[in-house]
Amino acid sequence: MQCPFCGNAEDKVLETRTNSEENYIKRRRECLSCKKKWVTHETIEYKPLMVFKSNGRKELFDKNKIIKGMEIACRKRPVALEDIVDAVDRIYYKIRRDDKNTITSEQVGNMVCDELKNMDMVAYIRFASVYRKFESVEEFRQILNISSKENKE
Ligand SMILES: [Zn+2]
Repeated sequence: MQCPFCGNAEDKVLETRTNSEENYIKRRRECLSCKKKWVTHETIEYKPLMVFKSNGRKELFDKNKIIKGMEIACRKRPVALEDIVDAVDRIYYKIRRDDKNTITSEQVGNMVCDELKNMDMVAYIRFASVYRKFESVEEFRQILNISSKENKE
């Protein structure tokens, strides 16, 4: 890469850092001629992610909307907002890793359910009872059994 200070074409990379999702890279570079240092950032350019809703309409994947829905499910539960934001990031990158540009709202809902199940059972049940129809009464009963066992620990 050309040095932004002296225009020399040769540089060396001193340090490379990626974030946890590895979709972002930061490099510290040094010019081999003038020895000045600078930083470059690389991010992956994604196509917009579209969500198909059950009514046939589509909309842009909206992290904030999902965070808000999870926040409501987690109301008065011991779940930090940061954990919700992390969960939504995980969902987003999971979809992206599958190289998809479209997803259904039902699939997003299921992924949110999976995250909430690991975070807080009450929040999970609240969310699932609104956004996902339980397959059977038995399935719902099983989930309640799991949650009452966890509360005893
Ligand atoms: Zn230079």
